Formats: sequence, C-alpha cells, structure tokens
Amino acid sequence: MNALLSVSDKTGIVDFARGLHGLGIRLLSTGGTAKLLADAGLPVTEVADVTGFPEMLDGRVKTLHPKVHGGLLARRDLPGHMASLKAHGIETIDLLVVNLYPFEATVAKPGCTLDEAIENIDIGGPAMVRSAAKNWKDVGVVTDAAQYEAVLGELRTEGKLSDRTRFALSVAAFNRISNYDGAISDYLSSLQFEGSVPGQAPTRTPFGAQANGRFVKLQDLRYGENPHQQAAFYRDLHPAPGSLVTAKQLQGKELSYNNIADADAAWECVKSFDTPACVIVKHANPCGVALGKDPLEAYSKAFKTDPTSAFGGIIAFNRPLDGAGAQAVSKQFVEVLMAPGFSPEALEVFKAKANVRLLEIALPPGGRTDWDNGRNMMDVKRVGSGLLMQTADNREMTLGELKVVTAKAPAQSELADLLFAWKVAKYVKSNAIVFCKDGMTLGVGAGQMSRVDSARIAGIKAANAGLSLQGSVVASDAFFPFRDGLDVVVDAGATCVVQPGGSMRDDEVISAANERGIAMVLTGVRHFRH
Ligand code: 5GP
Repeated sequence: MNALLSVSDKTGIVDFARGLHGLGIRLLSTGGTAKLLADAGLPVTEVADVTGFPEMLDGRVKTLHPKVHGGLLARRDLPGHMASLKAHGIETIDLLVVNLYPFEATVAKPGCTLDEAIENIDIGGPAMVRSAAKNWKDVGVVTDAAQYEAVLGELRTEGKLSDRTRFALSVAAFNRISNYDGAISDYLSSLQFEGSVPGQAPTRTPFGAQANGRFVKLQDLRYGENPHQQAAFYRDLHPAPGSLVTAKQLQGKELSYNNIADADAAWECVKSFDTPACVIVKHANPCGVALGKDPLEAYSKAFKTDPTSAFGGIIAFNRPLDGAGAQAVSKQFVEVLMAPGFSPEALEVFKAKANVRLLEIALPPGGRTDWDNGRNMMDVKRVGSGLLMQTADNREMTLGELKVVTAKAPAQSELADLLFAWKVAKYVKSNAIVFCKDGMTLGVGAGQMSRVDSARIAGIKAANAGLSLQGSVVASDAFFPFRDGLDVVVDAGATCVVQPGGSMRDDEVISAANERGIAMVLTGVRHFRH
C-alpha cells in the first residue's frame, strides 16, 4: 500500500507517518514534508523520484504528473485501468494526506499583498485531493490533522479503511476544497470590488461576493441574547471602513451580544448625519436622537427625549467626544459609548468608570453617502433553515423629492425637521412614529403591530418626558392605512407629517390632513425595519 503525504501544516504528520510506516505502508512525499519525515528517521520516497521530474517553478509544479494522478484516479475494479497503469509503470496511491497552502491565514494578515495571496493559492494539492476524493471507493483522502488518529486506528484494527470511512473522508475533502476555493474567490472579488485590480472597473454584484462571504471570528461571547444561548461575534473577511467591526475598545467590560447589536443600531443611525449628532439606543431602537452645535448639546437634547429609557443605553456620537460632553454623559448609567474619538479630558472622565465600554470608531472615509463603498450593502436574516438576503436600506431623501399633498405646505422652519424625522424613522423598528422639533426627537413610538398604537405610544412618551408636541413634525415609516393614526398625531399637536403614501386610502388620509389644517408631504419611499 502506498501513501502520499504532502502537507503545509506539518502538525502531527511525523507521528501519523510513523504509524503508517509501522503498518508496512510505503511513504511517498513532496520536498518539505519528505525532508521532515526523513529527518525523523522514516524511510520516504520523494515524489520527484517517482515521477522522474524535479519539483519546478518554485514548487508550483510538484505533483501535477500522470504518475501521481494516474495512481490516484485508476479504478481498481476495471482491468483496462489497471493495465494502463502497468503499461506506464504507474503504482497505485491508496492513501493521500494533504493540507493546502494557508491561503485563508495569509489573506487574513493585515497588509497582505496580491502577489503574496496568489503565491498561496495551492494548485497541486487541491488537484490531488479532488482525484483521491473522486476515487473514494479505492482511495482514502485525509485533509485535516484531526482525522489522523481515527484513520490510523481503523487501519490498525481493520487493516484497511471501510467504504463508510472513505466516503466520509471524500465528503470532508470536497467540503475543504469548496471552502478553499470560496475563500480565494471572495478575496479576489473583494479586490475587484474596490476597483484595485489594474485595468478593471469595480463590479457591483451585491449577491455575489457577499452571498458566499467568509467570516472571521472576532471573539466568543459570554452568551447570546439570553444567558442560556451560546454566541460568537464574526466579522467579514474584508470589513467595510467605518463599520462597527472596525471599532477599537478603549476600556470597559467585555461587549455582550446585546451591546453589539445595539451599538450597531446606534452607530448606523448616528453616522447618517452630517452635522454633530447623538443617538441613544435601547433594545435596538433609538430612544433619543438629536443634532447640536457640539456633542454636549446633541447629547443633552437626545437625553431629554426619554430619560427613563436612556438609562443603561448605548450612546453614539458622530464627532469626537470632548470633556464637556463626557461630563454630561457620565451622569447617567451608560453601557456603551461610541465616538470617532475621545479627547484626553473625556478619557479622564471615564477612567473612574472602568465598566463603561468606550468604542473608538472611525467614520467611513468616503463620508456618509459612501455607504461603505458598497460592501455593507447586504442585510442577512436567518429564517428557519433558510436565509433572507437583501441590499441594505441605503435610500436617502432630499427636500426636492418630497411631494406636498395638502393645501398647506410645510413652513420653512419645518423643512429641516421633516428630513430629520424621516431619517430617524428609518432606524426605528416598525411601525415607527417619530415626533421631532428643532433637530431633536420628542417622542418615539416603535415596534407596535398597529400604527395607531405606535402614534399613541409616541405621544404618551413625550408627555412622560414633559415635552410638548405642539407644532411638532412627525414621521411615519410607512403609510397610514386609515385616518385614525393621523388623527392621533394631530391631536397630539403635530402640524406637519411626512410619510411614504401609497395607501388605498391616501385620499381619505390627505382629506383628513386638510380638514385638520396641517401640512403633509409624501416621500414615495418606505422604511420598514423589522
Ligand atoms: P512541501 O512542504 O511538502 O514541499 O509542500 C507541501 C504542500 O505542497 C502541500 O500544501 C500541497 O498541497 C502542496 N502541493 C503539492 N503538490 C503541489 C503542486 O504540484 N503544486 C502546488 N502549487 N502545490 C502543491
């Protein structure tokens, strides 16, 4: 029986080879592996001596030879195949032990060049693995050091590998090759995506590279959404600049599953504003969003929206946090604080609060409309044994796109708040109703099964916070199916409404707005968020 061993990761290979040799199996091997085995005192034949061809092209061609592939692919049950082997002086190879050039580890290293990556694409290894795995009825193929012990054990006790084992090894081998090729395809696609391949325009095929995207584990988490659930945090192999996974934790307790989910919601919302903004998130919903001349003002306004809910919240800024802003934030219980930077004074403030998690996270270099160079464009959601994928909700609205449908047009002073409210509504779980004024949320109704209830809740929350909704602007993430929701927001004090429109009863809702003497604009765009 002949075994061919050719491994990049040489962990455990000497002991395994020694075991094979002990069973009378002849060892064939490639340069580096052969040397290691010979140094360990094992008799080993170099593949170059079998093929009569030296390894060439810096190892690009080592085993790509009929004497190797013939020995792997020949069907032992076909006399014609065996006669061909004999005619060409080829011996069968019955066991193949291969692990591949470390492509994944190479490209995961920061600063890996395209040339380095290319040199780490294994050619002969996968070719042999495929030959052996295809011919699983006659050949055992070992592609992982974790298989050594069981394979050796079976050879020892049974004298050969069972059909069941060889088939299982073949399946594992094809899985490995598929992952390997997937990693190569993803890596090269991501380069092309960035337009960094000379002479090639970036192609934006959203369901391509991301669909079979590879993820790198960042950390195991203590637990998932609840303590009885296990969880881990992964990032894309090539994360988008300015995305949450690029954050650096400066201090504080380890991030939890819920911290990460909420931090992402806060960050995505706050980075959508051009001017200084603050977003406070609880349970995936913003409970306070505001603009201000500086982080202090933005935070103070955002906090006022819902001081009760802000307790233990995730707070995000799109400007570096200074000492004054940090002082204000430190007065409340905060789980996670995120900003593109922290001044020395701000860091000093939180030194005394060692548990607070501070995340420093750069804004996307291309600005908010860069949408992460297109790479953050996939939303993924598990459903049962399936996967839902969609492009991210990146739609931005300009004033020019808003359509006034009422007799009364929005006042000049309401225009900025219209866009502000609309933007916030996009980050609130549906059904979303968001009252705003002067660049600040006044009441947020989130996640209700009926729009009218979201409207009522937003009003109740504003009242609880002691905020007046008189003369406010209100955004609804989707159309009002009936006039009842509209009546609730007008009763509460809204004088201007922004909503997508598109209901069968738009006429009823628009007449109601006219009847109540308020302004209404339609966006023609919906922002469901579930
Ligand atoms: P060694 O350290 O034994 O010199 O090389 C082992 C590695 O070479 C293994 O990862 C194996 O997959 C790979 N390999 C074997 N044959 C070939 C070949 O013909 N071309 C290339 N590029 N790699 C090969």
